[in-house]
Amino acid sequence: MGSGEQLPGIPVFDGHNDVLGRAFENSTYDFVEGTDTYHLDLTSALEAGFAGGLFAIFVPPREVETKRARSFGDGLTTPGTVPLPRAQQAAATMFSQLRRYIERSQGKLHMARTAEEARRALAGGSVAAVCHMEGAEAIDGELHALDLYYEAGLRSLGITWSRSNRFGCGVPFGFNRTPDIGPGLTRAGKDLVRRCNELGIMVDVSHLNAKGFRDVARISRAPIVASHSNAWKISPSTRNLTDDQLDAIRDSDGLVGVNFGVQYLRPDGQATTDTPLERFRDHVEYIAERIGLHRIGLGSDFDGVEIPQEIGSVRGLPRLMHAFADWGYSDEEIRGIAYNNWMRVLTETWE
Ligand code: ZN
Repeated sequence: MGSGEQLPGIPVFDGHNDVLGRAFENSTYDFVEGTDTYHLDLTSALEAGFAGGLFAIFVPPREVETKRARSFGDGLTTPGTVPLPRAQQAAATMFSQLRRYIERSQGKLHMARTAEEARRALAGGSVAAVCHMEGAEAIDGELHALDLYYEAGLRSLGITWSRSNRFGCGVPFGFNRTPDIGPGLTRAGKDLVRRCNELGIMVDVSHLNAKGFRDVARISRAPIVASHSNAWKISPSTRNLTDDQLDAIRDSDGLVGVNFGVQYLRPDGQATTDTPLERFRDHVEYIAERIGLHRIGLGSDFDGVEIPQEIGSVRGLPRLMHAFADWGYSDEEIRGIAYNNWMRVLTETWE
């Protein structure tokens, strides 16, 4: 097939999108109605074979919090902490947005609380939304809100975004630096990991710093998942995974969702969308060599980052699948990266 032609029949399950954060910040954005200004909308998703993914509840920093930045030296900072009432208000708004999108979707969008519900969309015709929190700011220290959100459908949780909260320390954005910046999980953070294990909520280590990662690796009984991070050895961003971290993911039989963000793909860390698909392949090859291809999935970060122009939006997914075929990956390997590996890790975590 020529480039740009579609490889039909490969559904994709994706580790991260920021649709709910976009909608929270921009009232004219509508996932169900569709828009061409952003990476992801329901109609484009269905046409491109996007069968589901983690939909992140993320509380964007306010100016006042950005001004109260926490400094880690060498120019590295993170926004200040988010007060619990504001975080709970914002999270409830985004959860409600997801629910209302589902109600208005005429059966084309559904919430996935079980592996079976996640698999339902793979046959086509609908999109499975896994409710995810990117940063546990909306969860109180006694974890009462965690129980509430679990009942409501939450099945995945990143302990931190790139800022500190009562549970841990998120890694500041930086380049040519390792993620070993700041302290590990708090006592409440360790309790949070244990409670997520008990309930069957996936613990996501993307955005967590190195000491926090180590704490998760020591405490958690579930596979360790980095939903949207790449290989530090290739692109030395603080957001990427060092070899030690990749090894811990391998040892837990976890998964890395490879991020489409050009800053996390490129060896120079530049935010240019003029970035060939081969840079994506570089990370897949490196991570596969270290932990096995069967522990790799996609973690697009749609609507959260700049992505290579050859992908452009969700509509570029078939082109990426086709590129994998061109690079010599077998149909089974491509289906593993596209969805089977994610399905395996979600099944093990949730059941
Ligand atoms: Zn993120």
